[in-house]
Amino acid sequence: MFAPEAAPAASGLTVVKPATERNETLGAVLSPSQANTFLNCSARWWFKHSAGLADPAGGSLVRGKAVHKLVEWWFRQRLAGATPEIESLGDIWDEIWEMQSADAQFAKDDDVDGLKKSGAKLSRMYLETVAPEIEPAGMEVKVAGEIGGVRVIGYVDLVDTQGTIHDLKTAAKTPSGIGSDYAFQLATYRQLLPGANGKAKLVTLVDTKTPKLVTTEYQVSAADQLATQNLYPRVREGIREGLYFPNRNSFLCSRKYCNFCDACTKEFGCSIE
Ligand code: SF4
Repeated sequence: MFAPEAAPAASGLTVVKPATERNETLGAVLSPSQANTFLNCSARWWFKHSAGLADPAGGSLVRGKAVHKLVEWWFRQRLAGATPEIESLGDIWDEIWEMQSADAQFAKDDDVDGLKKSGAKLSRMYLETVAPEIEPAGMEVKVAGEIGGVRVIGYVDLVDTQGTIHDLKTAAKTPSGIGSDYAFQLATYRQLLPGANGKAKLVTLVDTKTPKLVTTEYQVSAADQLATQNLYPRVREGIREGLYFPNRNSFLCSRKYCNFCDACTKEFGCSIE
């Protein structure tokens, strides 16, 4: 993104200047996750999607993805007419965990065994109490279309026969509501998913001492949809202009949750814990 300038700064660090050339090929197709990454920290978007730096999953993300995969497997069995016994999911869980952790980069303080056990417990809680109530219509449904003149694609984890989107997250703390990034994702699906009714149910599996399950219902508003129509083109414009900024105030800005800290401090200075 930046071209190094010859002269070193007084501190001995290399000064870098923004590139001036616009790149019309970037951001041709966006996803809600890419747009949210850009809005949260544009430098992070650059390191991942344009510079192509490795971004392996850490412990919490591996657990979240493994829980998703197990739940997806269970619903696929349901769609195929089977009723899988929750008691007998141990081998499938081991297999899914192995797959999800194969390319992971666990942090020194990640308790990998503890994460695997808690993931199994949280999945079971969801499959026993929430999943039986849902009438699935589709899993990992690909959606595509145009929003604000920008080509957008995404994958909806689970949609039921009423057109309600069901989502699942794992978290260490009780959520206080729906974040603006999630509202943006839902507003995207509302416009791209045929038959979507604009409603969503998010279940957060909270890994506290006594694990708990928090259900949050959400109705996508006209304002949410307007935000996507205004922001997708601006995100694409920002990407193409090539002016990226680090957001050290981002809740993801830490060595535990961002894989680009070294590249970021090298390019922009400061330090990150
Ligand atoms: S280290 Fe922080 S500022 Fe830098 S890319 Fe990651 S989240 Fe953004």
